[in-house]
Amino acid sequence: MRKILCVLSALCWLSVPALSQSYPDRPITMIVPYAAGGPTDTVARIVSEKMGRELGQRVIVENVAGAGGTLGSARAARSEPNGYTLLLNHIGMSTAPTLYPGSTDPLTAFEFIGLVADVPMTIVARRSFPSNTLQELVEYAVKQGDKVSYAHAGAGTASHICGMLFAAETGAQPLTIPYKGTGPAMIDLLGGQVDFMCDQTTNTTNQIQAGEIRAYAVTAAHRIPALPNVPSVNEAGLGKMELSIWHGIYTPKGTPQEVRRRLTSALQAALADTAVLERFRQLSALAVSREEATPEGLKSKLTAETARWKKVLAVETQK
Ligand code: ASP
Repeated sequence: MRKILCVLSALCWLSVPALSQSYPDRPITMIVPYAAGGPTDTVARIVSEKMGRELGQRVIVENVAGAGGTLGSARAARSEPNGYTLLLNHIGMSTAPTLYPGSTDPLTAFEFIGLVADVPMTIVARRSFPSNTLQELVEYAVKQGDKVSYAHAGAGTASHICGMLFAAETGAQPLTIPYKGTGPAMIDLLGGQVDFMCDQTTNTTNQIQAGEIRAYAVTAAHRIPALPNVPSVNEAGLGKMELSIWHGIYTPKGTPQEVRRRLTSALQAALADTAVLERFRQLSALAVSREEATPEGLKSKLTAETARWKKVLAVETQK
């Protein structure tokens, strides 16, 4: 169809490069497929601000939440491939093909801009939760069964797969409560309406430091500087729960190469910015290297992770 239109219009030979040269001449939307105020939203807001300054146009975050991030991803995939709609999503891009058959295939529906950051997770509970250590939490959760509630952001999200690993390692079967993101889940955890969750440090660090919630472990090999009193899952005897949440930026398939190149270089500039790095450091997010903040870096991560989670989820969903 496009070819036919091009034959009819001599101008079409000029239009793509011309478009790319003036890009961007209006604000850009960055879709975050989870609720506002949550961990992915936080990463997006930190990066988008600096990317916008680099590009000379605002990058506005839009939260399109639901169905474990697949609604927002589908919206992004369907939008015009002109560089004015981006998607920032995390590890959920690699679990979705297994858990939501027939949903947008991330490997074929998008162009890749680059990886962004890796973020560890924390096992946390409401302040009045009656366990002092991870061991006590495990014992309590196993004993209480579905009288204990676990919040997550929908099937395939970081909080969901972390809870799944927790259940696999400990045998606990808490009542699971899905939210449209861990932003709203955190509000309920703070309010004591839900008992515990496993969530990224980008959403839990401030509340842990303020003593508003309890923290039992961080899903990293070692303790992390921002939370020196929180043991690693290794130390606490749950080493198989080591989990780091990677993030990437995508555009719809067909976005012109020159536009993608500009976006990748804006991302790389954001990840070299001292203010961005300082915000990341405070929340224990680790910016990726310049080599990983590339289309190839993101594509190879997504390919490997999609294969990895297909295997893990095949086992876990059979149980
Ligand atoms: N990324 C989700 C959010 O931003 C949380 C999750 O994946 O667990 O709310």
